[in-house]
Amino acid sequence: MSEMVLLGDEAVAMGAIHAGITAAYAYPGTPSTEIMEFLIRYSQKNKKPVAQWCANEKTAYEGALGVSFAGRRAMVSMKHVGLNVAADPFMNSAIVNIHGGLVVVVADDPGMHSSQNEQDSRYFADFARIICLEPTNQQEAYEMTKEAFELSERFHIPVMIRLVTRLAHSRAVVQVDGQREENPLQKVPNPNSWILLPSNAKKQWHELLEIQKELEKHSEASSYNTLELNPDFKDFGVITTGLARNYYLENLPELDPKPSHLHISHYPIPVEKVRALANHVKKLIILEEGYPFVERFIRGILPLPLEIQGKITGEVPAEGELTPDNIRPVLGLKVRERRGVVHFNLPNRPPQLCPGCPHADTFMSLKKAMAEFQKTMVTSDIGCYTLGALPPYNAIESTVNMGASVGMAKGAADAGFYPVVAVIGDSTFLHSGVTPLMDAVAHNTNMTLIILDNETVGMTGGQPTILPYSRLKDVVLGIGVDPAHVHVVTTHRKFIDQNAQLILDEVKYNGLSVVIAVRECVETAKRHKKEQKKA
Ligand code: SF4
Repeated sequence: MSEMVLLGDEAVAMGAIHAGITAAYAYPGTPSTEIMEFLIRYSQKNKKPVAQWCANEKTAYEGALGVSFAGRRAMVSMKHVGLNVAADPFMNSAIVNIHGGLVVVVADDPGMHSSQNEQDSRYFADFARIICLEPTNQQEAYEMTKEAFELSERFHIPVMIRLVTRLAHSRAVVQVDGQREENPLQKVPNPNSWILLPSNAKKQWHELLEIQKELEKHSEASSYNTLELNPDFKDFGVITTGLARNYYLENLPELDPKPSHLHISHYPIPVEKVRALANHVKKLIILEEGYPFVERFIRGILPLPLEIQGKITGEVPAEGELTPDNIRPVLGLKVRERRGVVHFNLPNRPPQLCPGCPHADTFMSLKKAMAEFQKTMVTSDIGCYTLGALPPYNAIESTVNMGASVGMAKGAADAGFYPVVAVIGDSTFLHSGVTPLMDAVAHNTNMTLIILDNETVGMTGGQPTILPYSRLKDVVLGIGVDPAHVHVVTTHRKFIDQNAQLILDEVKYNGLSVVIAVRECVETAKRHKKEQKKA
């Protein structure tokens, strides 16, 4: 045993290394990015495991699936909305006979610190009928990841680790032990289970349903699902999940007598433990980070009129993160007075693009070009450039999901809107903007696509774009955009007018055009300069 100080994300990465993974794949996304960054650093030093960024979460998931098919262990990590992208292989992988352990780590973002929604990945695990483990601290993140591989191989299903931002991004001392050997290379013994033709898929689905009882039994006995009954206090009992346990325990010294408490970190939900607690108390308080997942489930298995208080009934905040303070009222504790916080009357400072950011110059050109029209539509996407929606640019009008700018622009043009421009970053384009561009090519849609090529994944800290920037034009030409209407320009203050004129000319062209605006992100440029000096 030795000790390491690790982020929750890094504890997961370390757990996977010690579980003997052969490969890990990911697409960057806050708050999960640090998992792969840790694995890449480790792999550069130790020559294994394979640790790679991928074009998107779907391709990452499929890579991990292939490793499992070859009998070895693999992990795939992503943020919660990334699982929407990977949903197809994820859902179907639940019914193939998983061979080498397959663990999917999904980092949710309650409170939307860096995301467009608060979706709770436990629903996805339940939807796929697989096990989900939800660590409460960094130590559990490490241990649960190791255990997840064992469970995956034992039950032949993928296993999900669900993290949330607070855990992913906070550090603690973690006790770690030795590294397990990699699995030998060995193809799955019954490849039929991997061929999801309806006749096989039916059989596989049946098998997944058959093991549900075993999964429930295992969860019931799991040491991560703990029930403590207080025989002398029956007024109410508390159920916590994930990090909510920490907030509850912080308030516990003030609760007298101590309520009975069930903590759930291993799903499926341990129904018998829930029933044991419910039979013991007059009321249940449910504290869970994310959606009211347990609360909804419990309403289906418990006889009324047991009172249940939680997010559905409104006693626990349904939006944003839980905190030790905001769960006090439901526990019958006084709201703490805030001391020592001085309020200054400061002006609002919205987030800004970095000074010198190349996107700023492209937005200036775009604004100039669009000034000629009374009504315009500019769809956009997810990245640093989303800040182009704010003053002083006010240059874009939508941010929905990765790659959506291109498809939405096509739809708006199909509806008859003119002029329509889609703005997307280089990495987001390669993630999921290429396929909707094929749709636009097929119909020579009257729209202009501007690819903001800053040669990196800027928003998540400067990871490399999956293809070097010099290849973007080839990709665009390769899928059939008319070469006469594909332009690569340098974006810079001194070229604002020139680039505005080019954008305007292409907007006026009745068909599909693409402008690739290139200049490196100033942050990665600084880093590269430093590295060059050192070399
Ligand atoms: S990190 Fe790079 S791309 Fe993002 S705002 Fe700063 S300069 Fe622009």
